Amino acid sequence: MSAIFRNGLVLTMDDAHTVLPGADVLVIDDRIAEVGHHLTAPDGAEEIDATGGIVMPGMIDTHRHMWQTAMRGYGADWTLTQYFVWYYLESGKLFRPEDIYAGNLLSAIEAIDAGVTTTVDWSHGLQTAQHADAAVDALEAVPGRFVLAYGNIQQGPWDWTASDSFRDFVRRRVDSGKLAGFQLAFDVTGDPAFPEKAAFEVARELGVPVTTHAGVWGATNDEGIRLMYENGFMTPGTVYVHAATLSSDSYHRIAATGGSVSVSTESEQSAGQGYPPTWQLRRHGIPVSLSMDTSVWWSGDLFSAMRTTLSADRSREHLEAHAQQQTITNHHLRAEQVVDWATRGGARSLGMDSQVGALTPGRQADVVLLKNDASPVMFPILNPYGHVAFQAQRGDVHTVLVGGKVVKRDGKLVGVDLATARAKVEDTVSYLRETMGEEAWRRGMNPDVPAAELFDNPYQYTEYDAGSAQWKH
Ligand SMILES: [Zn+2]
Repeated sequence: MSAIFRNGLVLTMDDAHTVLPGADVLVIDDRIAEVGHHLTAPDGAEEIDATGGIVMPGMIDTHRHMWQTAMRGYGADWTLTQYFVWYYLESGKLFRPEDIYAGNLLSAIEAIDAGVTTTVDWSHGLQTAQHADAAVDALEAVPGRFVLAYGNIQQGPWDWTASDSFRDFVRRRVDSGKLAGFQLAFDVTGDPAFPEKAAFEVARELGVPVTTHAGVWGATNDEGIRLMYENGFMTPGTVYVHAATLSSDSYHRIAATGGSVSVSTESEQSAGQGYPPTWQLRRHGIPVSLSMDTSVWWSGDLFSAMRTTLSADRSREHLEAHAQQQTITNHHLRAEQVVDWATRGGARSLGMDSQVGALTPGRQADVVLLKNDASPVMFPILNPYGHVAFQAQRGDVHTVLVGGKVVKRDGKLVGVDLATARAKVEDTVSYLRETMGEEAWRRGMNPDVPAAELFDNPYQYTEYDAGSAQWKH
């Protein structure tokens, strides 16, 4: 089986960030065979006309609570506090295995549709092994690359990692399964007794990385980082999600121990984990990957991650300078860097850099073609990285290959059963709505708006009565 992208603007994302205009990408079986001009393809190779488009590596999302996609958009007006109350305290435990399946299935389809070929399922709704089986069943039903980050917010990690059913699941579904990777997902509260130690020991024994929400305002802080460091659990491969409210000392510890940070800019801006930290991370030399966190607020679309991350970093740089009465005349963060974070950054963070994240011979053929001849936004393409970060969007994802397999072609998903996903998500939504009751359902979606404070306006016309729209005489 082979395919060839013809005459595209190719962003290889190789070590030199080679950009090749009018170039071809040849895929043989599951791998990139060659990248260059006027390549010869084997007989029968599928020809994909990339003229007018950008060919780039599949994007990588390193932190997504995929099960929450069944509640798409429900929490649009939430803060992190409301999210915690809804999922952790009140309604998260209502989710049955079939609800985990429904959310994961829709999220997995959404990922490949948006050109996100590798996604970490930060799956912290796994209350039982049946829930975990359902999560993996859904991931295996969709032709994308998925890393399962196993978690369970209804129990302490020292409990669920010690259970027989968890060990049995690892044997059945991880050791001999189709997952692209496996991580343990839990948070470190900063409790001086460090009860999470037992879970870190399980990760070490299994030889798998830990991914942890760190530096989340009001939830996790420098104490958690210190405990991990002093107990020897800050190891290469550890992924720190958000890391938005940490001291310089904690950032130094992350940099020195080979960890990376998964930045969810849209989440940090809206939910309140802290200011999106890339402006700090780049000064501490910490590797970055991007993520979308949860579709209870945002869709799983790394174009918006690139766009908001670039903007938030620049916004902060300007504000910090203005506070010193200075002007930024040259931005530090470039579009090229956020495209790297969305591809290579993710691959490095997951220890998959030899397999995915770039279009170089020998790597897995996870390829995305951005092309939309009907769109006025797809020309001219003058600055390719800028075009990806600030101009392109999900609707421009024309063709997607995962491991050489065509999963989207001419803007349409291939071999994906969206109707089943729709029916399953509808079932989950009606079950939750019925179980919660209409009042709780409505209240959950519509948090109170705090009383507005309106400044007195010194320029108000005192002689004008706004109510009657008359001048007073
Ligand atoms: Zn998260």
